[in-house]
Amino acid sequence: MNPLERLVKAFTRLPGIGEKTATRLALFTLRDEKDTGRELAEALIFIKEKMHFCQQCQNLTEAELCIICRDPNRTPSLICVVEDISDLVALEKMGDYRGHYHVLHGALSPLDGVGPEELKIKSLMRRIEQGTTAEVILATNSNPSGEMTALYLKKVLAPFKISISRIASGIPIGANVEHTDAQTLSRAIESRREF
Ligand SMILES: [Zn+2]
Repeated sequence: MNPLERLVKAFTRLPGIGEKTATRLALFTLRDEKDTGRELAEALIFIKEKMHFCQQCQNLTEAELCIICRDPNRTPSLICVVEDISDLVALEKMGDYRGHYHVLHGALSPLDGVGPEELKIKSLMRRIEQGTTAEVILATNSNPSGEMTALYLKKVLAPFKISISRIASGIPIGANVEHTDAQTLSRAIESRREF
């Protein structure tokens, strides 16, 4: 395989990138004079070698605990459960949520072979078992997978003396948390309902 084919093949392994886009990206990298390729390569190597998941919330971090879990001005008794790091980033952008997070790294999808074991649910349970949590906000997406995940979590969290809420209002049915604008997200968290 020649170097160009190798690069195209590598790009097609990324989510949402087909052969055509991969070829366009590979040619761009080749022709670009601004060293974008080197920067991209270095950023990719750095993230794989230096970053890992936060021991507590599964967010990305260079340290044992992420910047959110380490922040003394946040409320650790409030945990917002999200599907992916991109959802956490979207919620952080709105700026007024001051609790902690838990990133599941996916949502239940039995047809795709994604069960509870494939998600970071055990580490969430361990956190709740410590007894320091007062409320869990389920901020999974409002599509079938996200709803199924929220219902599953509601069931397994039921034995604990904590309040469980679900963001709902404002987020369109079937929409992703990641793609919802900051103002709508802010309202959705504020007007969360008991679940
Ligand atoms: Zn963390």
